[in-house]
Amino acid sequence: MQQGSLKAWQASSHFAGANAAYIEELYEAYLDDPNAVSEEWQAIFAELPSQGVGTDVAHSRIRDYFRATALDSNRSKTTTVDPEVTEKQVRVLQLINAFRFRGHQNANLDPLGLWQREPVAELDLAHHGLTEDDLGREFNTGSYALGNGTMKLGELFNSLKATYCGPIGAEYMHITSTEEKRWLQQRLEPVMGQGSYDADTKKRILAGLNAAEGLEKYLGAKFPGAKRFSLEGGDAMIPMMRELIYRAGDQGAKEVVVGMAHRGRLNMLVNILGKKPGDLFDEFAGKHDEALGSGDVKYHQGFSSDFATPGGNVHLALAFNPSHLEIVSPVVMGSVRARMDRRNCETGKLVMPITIHGDSAITGQGIVQETFNMSQTRGFKVGGAIRIVVNNQVGFTTSNPEDTRSTEYCTDIAKMVQAPVLHVNADDPEAVAFVAQLAVDFRYEFGRDVVIDLICYRRHGHNEADEPNATQPLMYQKIKKHPTPRKIYADRLIEQGVMNAEEVTEQINTYREQLDQGECVVPEWRTMTEHSVDWTPYLGHDWDESWDSQVGLDKLKALATSICEVPESHKLQSRVAKIYKDREAMAAGDKPLDWGMAETLAYATLLDSGYRVRLTGQDSGRGTFFHRHAVLHNQDNATTYMPLRHLGEHQGPIEIFDSVLSEAAVLAFEYGYATAEPSGLTMWEAQFGDFANGAQVVIDQFLSSGEQKWGRLCGLTLLLPHGYEGQGPEHSSARLERFLQLCADHNMQVVVPSTPAQVYHMLRRQVVRPMRRPLVVMSPKSLLRHPMAVSSLEELALGDFQNVIGELDELDPAKVDRVVFCSGKVYFELLEKRRREELTNVALIRIEQLYPFPHAEMAQVLEAYQHVKEFVWCQEEPQNQGAWYCSQHHFWQAIPAGANLTYAGREASAAPACGYVSVHNKQQQALVNAALGLN
Ligand code: AMP
Repeated sequence: MQQGSLKAWQASSHFAGANAAYIEELYEAYLDDPNAVSEEWQAIFAELPSQGVGTDVAHSRIRDYFRATALDSNRSKTTTVDPEVTEKQVRVLQLINAFRFRGHQNANLDPLGLWQREPVAELDLAHHGLTEDDLGREFNTGSYALGNGTMKLGELFNSLKATYCGPIGAEYMHITSTEEKRWLQQRLEPVMGQGSYDADTKKRILAGLNAAEGLEKYLGAKFPGAKRFSLEGGDAMIPMMRELIYRAGDQGAKEVVVGMAHRGRLNMLVNILGKKPGDLFDEFAGKHDEALGSGDVKYHQGFSSDFATPGGNVHLALAFNPSHLEIVSPVVMGSVRARMDRRNCETGKLVMPITIHGDSAITGQGIVQETFNMSQTRGFKVGGAIRIVVNNQVGFTTSNPEDTRSTEYCTDIAKMVQAPVLHVNADDPEAVAFVAQLAVDFRYEFGRDVVIDLICYRRHGHNEADEPNATQPLMYQKIKKHPTPRKIYADRLIEQGVMNAEEVTEQINTYREQLDQGECVVPEWRTMTEHSVDWTPYLGHDWDESWDSQVGLDKLKALATSICEVPESHKLQSRVAKIYKDREAMAAGDKPLDWGMAETLAYATLLDSGYRVRLTGQDSGRGTFFHRHAVLHNQDNATTYMPLRHLGEHQGPIEIFDSVLSEAAVLAFEYGYATAEPSGLTMWEAQFGDFANGAQVVIDQFLSSGEQKWGRLCGLTLLLPHGYEGQGPEHSSARLERFLQLCADHNMQVVVPSTPAQVYHMLRRQVVRPMRRPLVVMSPKSLLRHPMAVSSLEELALGDFQNVIGELDELDPAKVDRVVFCSGKVYFELLEKRRREELTNVALIRIEQLYPFPHAEMAQVLEAYQHVKEFVWCQEEPQNQGAWYCSQHHFWQAIPAGANLTYAGREASAAPACGYVSVHNKQQQALVNAALGLN
């Protein structure tokens, strides 16, 4: 085929009538993806008249164009082809395409009318060479979903404007799936982007606006100047939430989990979740629940209730959140995943997440990208989320969009996952209801995220004490004169004859009276029946309660054998095969257990008792340091096999996922999972412990303080590889000191296990004991393969977790004049050196749990050393790091009166470790010598 002009092509034999159908197909394929056809065809199709608005023209009827222009001898006898008409036909299809691509840029989205957007040329008839004369002509409309395939241009143009440039700006042409685009077109175009609502629904929508406005006005009058982060301006969020929940109920949702920041939260609590206004007023008046810990401000509080929809009751949970914007989203996703797992729901159809964002935060905070990135991955997907931006057009307290983002829309980040974005003018609550329903249906149809950009304004400043005119004079002059969303919609309903003015006034008064009474104002509110987790067995426990966690030797051996079984056809990589062979010997009692075996046995025993186990982290299937191999990769066909899934019919489920390369979102997700699911072992593993600080917000704002602030228990386990092996300032420290500094009120446990038996008991204890508090583990690296860090099956079967491990060698305590306390791998270095030096005067005591500090066990272990005057704390970390500063007061309390406590470790340092192995070795030797009292 020759490349060349359209005319030359038309003259070629390929374009004979008989080939028309084939060419049409090729052209359709080309328009969806130009690379789908050969270069020759690309060149030919590129010559068709085009206005550069993208390739997704509606084409199923382009065949008419081909037919008309094809040199079909039979046809040419009966048809007169007007080349101008056929060219215009293509241009009409391109006009449709232009509206689909760019209509949202000229849509009526800003309730204040302040946006200044350039008119989009492609949305103009003239741009396409179409004139007034063409308005009355009939054209094919391709896949345009209104009408029946042909329309007069005038009619088509008006419908395109109504659909794509009205109060909804539908942005979806970035989606590559033709099916999804067609689905959205089918929903938008036949109804010209407008829902049709009966009188009851309209009244329900107005009632939502009335409640939203009524509550804020009431609070403003009753508690003037108090911070409430008013929703006013974004009032449509309340009727929108109602429509979202109704639709989710229709689609079969049993639970909806909501995450949001502070703006509008009090409104959501009272008007959607059914919190009693009286309780809220009490909080404004300074009353609080004495049973809670240190508590939190009212606009961070979560809530749970049931909500009756025509499709059935939906359980609602509003997640507690800190002021750190956006971090709650991955927490919500984790909570949703836990609820899905509990309900054996893989699709997410039974549980729907809704996250509500601010316009600056969604584009400013990196956690948003991380959360989008997780949304379709195996370990973290939840079947799509409804993500709403309450877009009040002012960043944080005062900023303009040009200072807060570099993208056209704040929602552009959502395009990374090809989420459709539905921009909507919040002053049109019916349009808002329409996009709410569309969003839920899209999520249920395709299992992917969808974004609603609710474009509104903020009637007051950042909070009620703020003066917004100071920085936004023009906007606030406009806002002052702008009628409220309730007033605008009430006037519309009065005009339509749906309600009269008296009924509207009555609605206002009735709501105010309800607030006066202080009782729940949500007609759909129901007492909770749907939630299936009972947290009461986990309430009121502390770490030092005894628990029965032992598994008998026979059972242990049977499970040890079981976890080594791999089908013969599953070919293991040679090093992995060797590890499994060694494990077989360990199971048979021919070899002592190493770390990987003991850890895997802990999981096996828990699974065998029916507990659920979930572990995520960057290399968790294999283990960063090649010790775990819980997920086995077949060398022949790359399939995977998990022996832990094949223990027995009644075992609990286990999931181990290599996570996305994120710390913050993954840890937040697992926190969300563990706060929604108390019954199993939920773990996050850092690749190296260093990286945990990428999730510092989750550690500070949720893990360490969530129980005190919100009464939310969380049994999440963090495995943080830690230890000084000369790998440099990164890959040495999990920043133990940071965790210890956060410890108080027995809020979490910080543990440094030093043997396989210890890790086995530690993991079992975390589940079998009913206390649910975070467990932070300084997990080992070199100890994973250390010849002395081994345990026997008997130690697993008969022992328990030891918070303190006393001297193991047979030293005469009376001859001991120096006692060294330590944690983790340095113990083995101290032990080796002491043995080599044949010292009999130094006892070594391992503190395996640094917090809560095990005073009683320490006292027992130290009983034999009451005569000793020299106590030493030995650590590998620099003096300003590790446990020295944070735990010293506990060590002092433990030693006998009059004894001295000194420090043996690295000097204080700005970096966690030095970068040179030779310096590391010298430092390490020196600290071991110093601890043992050697020069
Ligand atoms: P939810 O399913 O999150 O709405 O929770 C339902 C109820 O379970 C809450 O009202 C709490 O009483 C309780 N609950 C949920 N999560 C926790 C938690 N992490 N710690 C303690 N109680 C919880």
